[in-house]
Amino acid sequence: MNLTVIDHPLARHYISILRDKTTEPEAFRSAARRLTYALVMEATGRLPLAKTEIESPLERTTGYELGNVVAVAVLRAGLGMLDAVLDLIPQVKVGFAGVQRNEETALPIEYYAKMPDLEDASVLILEPMLATGGSLSWAVGKAKEFGATDITCLCVVTAPDGVTRMYEDHPDVRIVAAAHDRELNDHFYIVPGLGDMGDRLFGTL
Ligand code: URA
Repeated sequence: MNLTVIDHPLARHYISILRDKTTEPEAFRSAARRLTYALVMEATGRLPLAKTEIESPLERTTGYELGNVVAVAVLRAGLGMLDAVLDLIPQVKVGFAGVQRNEETALPIEYYAKMPDLEDASVLILEPMLATGGSLSWAVGKAKEFGATDITCLCVVTAPDGVTRMYEDHPDVRIVAAAHDRELNDHFYIVPGLGDMGDRLFGTL
């Protein structure tokens, strides 16, 4: 399948903080950032490297340089994962994909798209909640329009419907997640999930 769920005590610890409904936005943002470090480490495990020659204090040796990496934050919840990516890959270029879901139909409505050149880039798409898959599938399609061919999606929680939809729409795209939950409820929220990621990050209701 296209889904990798990370299995790490730190990831379980931080996702439990995110799931807890008493976690306030400040602690929620901090846990989201720390959890994203683990997702980035897993997602970047196959990034291409260019070999270089470097001088250690003792002798000449082989070094490695990262190629072109682009992160695309799906607004607005993807912003909660962006700082971790910027910390670990400071040279990353960043695109933004604005998509809102119609709360009744769960269909994605595009309102913003600004991307760097994505050709020859390793693209990391930041979309914490993969519920129906509508938003993420749209964002991946947008990234492909801008030339992306190597795409990995970073999600905090996925649901079976979203993973299936992504596999049908974009079988070439990898998903790395911290948890794969049971199902969606009647309002298309992931269960058990963690609620509305954007609201919990930014303290809106
Ligand atoms: N988006 C969220 O923020 N939470 C869900 O459970 C589903 C979609």
